[in-house]
Amino acid sequence: MIDTNIKILPQHEQYLQKIGASAEELGYPAYVVGGYVRDLLLNRPCKDIDIVCVGSGIELAQASAKKINGASRVSFFKNFGTAQFKMDDVELEFVGARKESYQRDSRKPIVEDGTLEDDQNRRDLTINALAISLNKGDYGSIIDPFNGLTDLQNKIIRTPLDPNITFSDDPLRMMRAIRFATQLRFHIEADTLQAISDNKQRIKIISYERISSELNKIILSPKPSIGFKLLFKTGLLHYFFSEMTALQGVEWRNSIGHKDNFYHTLEVLDNVALMSKDLWLRWAAILHDIAKPPTKRFHPDSGWTFHGHEVLGAKMTTRIFRRLKLPMDERMKFVQKMVALHLRPIALTKGDVTDSAIRRLLFDAGDDVDELMILCQADITSKNEAKVKRYLENYEMVKIKLKEVEEKDRLRNWQPPISGDIIMETFGIRPSRKVGDIKKAIREAILDGDIPNEYEAAFEFMLKKGKELGLETGE
Ligand code: ATP
Ligand code: MG
Repeated sequence: MIDTNIKILPQHEQYLQKIGASAEELGYPAYVVGGYVRDLLLNRPCKDIDIVCVGSGIELAQASAKKINGASRVSFFKNFGTAQFKMDDVELEFVGARKESYQRDSRKPIVEDGTLEDDQNRRDLTINALAISLNKGDYGSIIDPFNGLTDLQNKIIRTPLDPNITFSDDPLRMMRAIRFATQLRFHIEADTLQAISDNKQRIKIISYERISSELNKIILSPKPSIGFKLLFKTGLLHYFFSEMTALQGVEWRNSIGHKDNFYHTLEVLDNVALMSKDLWLRWAAILHDIAKPPTKRFHPDSGWTFHGHEVLGAKMTTRIFRRLKLPMDERMKFVQKMVALHLRPIALTKGDVTDSAIRRLLFDAGDDVDELMILCQADITSKNEAKVKRYLENYEMVKIKLKEVEEKDRLRNWQPPISGDIIMETFGIRPSRKVGDIKKAIREAILDGDIPNEYEAAFEFMLKKGKELGLETGE
């Protein structure tokens, strides 16, 4: 049961009373609306308070900030009629109630002043259209024209008005509906879900930045597969992430099939979500097999193969991040590295593993080796319990070996002991290919275990290598 005896945090209550008093002085009603009311009723913490008034939001913000000790400066956008200030860690946002009408090719509406009802009508979901009065007479009562309370109770996602109009007006709302269904584990009501399918092509007018911001919220949910299945089922996913929809399906030849890589990927993603809150590790789960469709081959003897999917997958990661307007910095590089290396620990579980293979993985994965092991563990989606147990035990062995070798050789953030400068100085040469060749040879010799990871040994080795390349020392 949702407790409608709402319990506003005492510090929030203080601000709200003052805002109510200011509204009365100005002579127009004010309300808390949207996410804050929803989260209050769901007992979720919320630090953004949206206030709607039937009057000037900017004036109300200024009057309220004056009454609240410690309020930040009010910042406002005259064109939009919005104003906000901060108080402690709470952000208070003010706007005059508005009425919106839309044109087909833009999600930017024509806005006019309106009533509270007009303002509630333009909201995306019934559960986001609840308001609490701040006015004398009915202070604290809930105004719920669309039965949002019942929908909260029954865990239903539904639009306040005809979903076809709500979604066509602003197609981002389709992403938001699926995002809330995933975050809150709510069920999307049948007509609303149907309307997402019917209006899916409208998503084309939404920028990738906005799409990705909702997508990332789905990915950060406790069970992200819920959202991806809805995005897939309604057809939205096909419009902005066709590489992922291409993973779906099973092909059979000579009675040999392969697994459905879409549902496998979602299982891996949910598994990672149980072990890590890191958005980028979750992205690595989404992309780890992304190149399976383009690398898929059938061999009559050995069946289906996906050779090189980790290499192509790392390349596709760049393209996908760029298109989806995800960050092109070290976060993308991290995802790329995870995708590229995701098969390496499996190789280490087979047969006799040399220290040198372990050293190479430590060197290549660096500080991200623990995340890589989480991804690999999550990648075990077999339904055969005995197999799962064996695979997990194998990984435990790999982890122990990684730890042993790391303690011995400290390779995680390793720089080979001989720098390019030392090589150039010793042989009296300028920056050139030979410097790189010698550096690489030293690194390989250490990783292979031919020489120990020490300065003296590496220096000796460098002299030998230089001689082979026809270089002379100054001596
Ligand atoms: P969260 O803060 O978790 O993202 P929220 O519902 O508070 O969720 P906001 O983007 O902060 O989302 O928006 C505040 C309120 O504004 C929403 O509760 C909803 O009433 C309304 N709203 C936001 N985006 C839209 C939209 N695209 N269409 C209609 N109403 C919207
Ligand atoms: Mg919010």
